[in-house]
Amino acid sequence: MAILCDNALVVTAEEEKPLLEGQQLVIDRGVIAALGKRIHLEHFSIDRRIDCTGRIVLPGLVNAHSHLTEILQRSMRDNVRMETWRGYRARTEEMAHLTAEEIGAAAELACGEMLKHGVTAVVDHFSTRPGLSVAKMKAILGAFAKTGIRGALAASLRDQDFIQLISSRSGAKSSDARIEEPWREEFLEVLEYVKNSSGTSRLMIAPSSPQNCSDGLLREVSRLAAQHDLGIHTHLLETRLQFWAARKLYRGSLVGHLRRLGFLSDRLSAAHGVWLREEELDLMATSGASIVHNPASNLKLGSGVAPVIKMRKHGVNVALGTDGGDTSDTYSIFDQMRLAAFLSRLTSERSEEWVTAQEALRMGTANGANAIPAWRGKIGKIKKGRRADLIILKSQLPLFPLNNIIHQLVFCEGGGSVDTVLVDGEVVVEEGRLTKVDEDTLVERVKPISKRMKQFYNQLQRRSDPAERTVRRLYQKAFRDRSRS
Ligand SMILES: [Zn+2]
Repeated sequence: MAILCDNALVVTAEEEKPLLEGQQLVIDRGVIAALGKRIHLEHFSIDRRIDCTGRIVLPGLVNAHSHLTEILQRSMRDNVRMETWRGYRARTEEMAHLTAEEIGAAAELACGEMLKHGVTAVVDHFSTRPGLSVAKMKAILGAFAKTGIRGALAASLRDQDFIQLISSRSGAKSSDARIEEPWREEFLEVLEYVKNSSGTSRLMIAPSSPQNCSDGLLREVSRLAAQHDLGIHTHLLETRLQFWAARKLYRGSLVGHLRRLGFLSDRLSAAHGVWLREEELDLMATSGASIVHNPASNLKLGSGVAPVIKMRKHGVNVALGTDGGDTSDTYSIFDQMRLAAFLSRLTSERSEEWVTAQEALRMGTANGANAIPAWRGKIGKIKKGRRADLIILKSQLPLFPLNNIIHQLVFCEGGGSVDTVLVDGEVVVEEGRLTKVDEDTLVERVKPISKRMKQFYNQLQRRSDPAERTVRRLYQKAFRDRSRS
């Protein structure tokens, strides 16, 4: 079965020929089989033709760092820093005791929202309390398959709490910092399940953040990743407090410490990197590791502005992510592309260094694919031989008058113009509606779960929270230490 996209205006976002007009594009068995002005259609058995006249075709957007189930806590909080936000999020989740079915429904809703906004591939950095379970991980994989998105489940691991570790230096018990959460058997069982499945879903191994993992756990992650050829994902130096704590815990450079552990390689994609120093960027670049920039989340939580221009100078591959539904608070990569371009203008006086719209579009497509080993060279571009993950936009008001397509895709578009979406050659959104799941039924399934979460959050807010006071006290120390940062 082959699909012909006819008379398409194709956006490649490449340096040379960023736009191709009047193209025919044939998708055969999930692959872009031919692309050109006039191709030999007789070589294919075309059974579907999509008229792309007046439409724009571009590679599917890649969300390289996300937390799907956080959609249940969407926009619950304002003006709190990441560590405080994280405490509330986790405790609300603990009180809710989400079942695998509920986790699956929430993940489906987030995947559905992403597909409708042009995201065709997502990394879900998945954590659940009180630890990973096979049923819950399979629920996320089920959400990928049911909606049709290309998903990588990055199972989150941790065995210590850095806030407790830092606090223990001023008198608290260091044993409180240790966390026993089961993961190994569960992870390996799901890995076997994914290996035996024929779909597009993949598994990654994903420390929550290095400072929340012992050196032993980080070594084990690297060993398993090499043994099973897996991508590694983690949060990295997202906040000032993490930066300050890392200098104390690792006597200097956290990234230098990770290199000594053998943790850095081209398997690694690290979210945020807001507080990475020049020498650490150099280590990331030489190892081939990628950074996933999450501009909306960094802004909302007051974490800072990631040094994207410096990352580029050092040669680091920079992808984009939305982070969770309560930190950014949408799952739109169009939003992240715009913010990435705009924020870069605060970090350099030289306008020629700013992130351009074309560069932002590559960050949201090809760079996202490059960040994830399972996707590298397979998606992210509209090119013969790549898997057919692409989106078709119709001309809506943000794209009118159409003076400069790439500028308008990044500076004007939010995802509302997305009409048709294909993942691995399958049409998963048509006329702006999901084709594989019923949206209204899905919303009804999620309503009672999110209502319950809101009630638990309201209960939490009424209690005084010693952890919040600890975070506030540590931030005061970190800010006082600013001169030495
Ligand atoms: Zn995150």
